[in-house]
Amino acid sequence: MRTTTVIIGAGHAGLAMSRCLSERGIDHVVLERGEVANSWKRERWDSLRLLTPNWQSRLPGYAYQGDDPDGYRDMAQTIAYIETYAEVISAPVHTHTRVTSVSARDGGYRVSTDEGEWQCRTLVLASGACNIPVIPKVAEGAPPGVHMLSPTQYRNPQGLEQGGVLVVGASASGIQIAAEIQRSGRPVTLAVGEHIRAPRVYRGRDIQWWMDAVGVLDERYDSIDDLNRARSVPSLQLAGSDERRMLDLNTLSDAGVKLVGRLAGINAGKAQFSGSLGNLCALSDLKMNRLLESIDAWASAHGLDGEVDAAQRFEPTRVQAAPPLGMDLSDGAIRTIIWATGFRPDYSWLEVPVLDRKGRVRHDGGVVDAPGMYLMGMQFLRRRKSALIDGAGDDARDLSAHLADYLDRPRRPRPLPDLACGRAPNNTPDSSTCATHPLSTAVM
Ligand SMILES: Cc1cc2nc3c(=O)[nH]c(=O)nc-3n(C[C@H](O)[C@H](O)[C@H](O)COP(=O)(O)OP(=O)(O)OC[C@H]3O[C@@H](n4cnc5c(N)ncnc54)[C@H](O)[C@@H]3O)c2cc1C
Repeated sequence: MRTTTVIIGAGHAGLAMSRCLSERGIDHVVLERGEVANSWKRERWDSLRLLTPNWQSRLPGYAYQGDDPDGYRDMAQTIAYIETYAEVISAPVHTHTRVTSVSARDGGYRVSTDEGEWQCRTLVLASGACNIPVIPKVAEGAPPGVHMLSPTQYRNPQGLEQGGVLVVGASASGIQIAAEIQRSGRPVTLAVGEHIRAPRVYRGRDIQWWMDAVGVLDERYDSIDDLNRARSVPSLQLAGSDERRMLDLNTLSDAGVKLVGRLAGINAGKAQFSGSLGNLCALSDLKMNRLLESIDAWASAHGLDGEVDAAQRFEPTRVQAAPPLGMDLSDGAIRTIIWATGFRPDYSWLEVPVLDRKGRVRHDGGVVDAPGMYLMGMQFLRRRKSALIDGAGDDARDLSAHLADYLDRPRRPRPLPDLACGRAPNNTPDSSTCATHPLSTAVM
């Protein structure tokens, strides 16, 4: 079978690209190993709600129409939202079609699937950033009686054995799961590494509203001093709830969760925690305060002081003077470890040599280092918001423009001015137009 473009993955990123290609009249298919919104259907826990408010799930040609713009979708609503989008844009999705290999052929790509083979000139990798949980090597030292799960396997506390739970990682997934398990009556210990603390609501507005209004989410990949760092920062400590509650280490401590430092190793059945908990929390508080100061300055400069609530500061994170540095994992007190330690993409099927030594796709703002190949949905792909639902639209518009240009000039694609702050890629950034946003230091 032949088509001009194959998009791999029918999550919101692949669908946003599909919509942009349709607008340009570019013939394409979307190949999906499961169903539309498969990750949300198969790889998320039951109680998860988006941490971005409803208004902030804008996809090309599809904005929020409901009467609860400040609410946070649960999983059923998120799935329905993405499924409806696929229908509204008439995306040419082939479900239950798993891509098993992609190789270069005839100036384009051969895409093999368990439902046959496709030949295309251009290819979009929208297969997700969170396919495989990253579980540190220290996990190998855990005693055999301790059950281990990743957030993609965890569903709800009832699915766990009775007894204590060690949650490793205190970013969005870790803190949400820790809070829910503690509420179920199982004692939770949370191993805290680097994390980014943020209030849910600040001065009466959602923190995401501020980040959007101030422009920090639109900050571009080619304006960042340390892009590798920006692409690996942990998610903000946020959760969606009807009460718009702040969820941080203080609220977890109040609920009875025991905080310990970063899990450094497991030796002879004993977990070893780093002594850096106090420092990490102090750093996180400092960064949060820097973020709030920047928001205050921006609000004043834009005449919002009379419109929003007064500025406020939050209690510093409370940490035990000498948190435990070790814990016996073999005495039966801890029955489960949940590794909320991040995710990575799976490109085991990609036979085109575009991966770097860490297994990441080499790309310039989503334009992959192989002719006619594009990437979507990665953290800070083109903008700080790229991995959010809200970020896919702008990225898909930019990259579909580049793809169309490539199809017009198959042998020598012109770099589009848009791709590097008004200049061609690889030029030195123009600091007048590409200045790092003052808030970015607060969220990195
Ligand atoms: C726990 C969690 C919470 C999140 N919360 C939010 C939030 O509140 N707000 C927000 O904006 N973002 C959130 N995100 C980030 C982001 O929106 C999601 O990760 C989103 O699922 C990414 O969309 P995507 O289209 O890039 O990838 P996915 O939704 O993962 O879609 C990729 C698709 O590709 C398919 N696929 C993969 N490999 C193959 C193959 N070989 N062949 C065929 N198909 C394949 C998969 O089945 C999947 O359907 C969250 C992410 C996680 C992990």
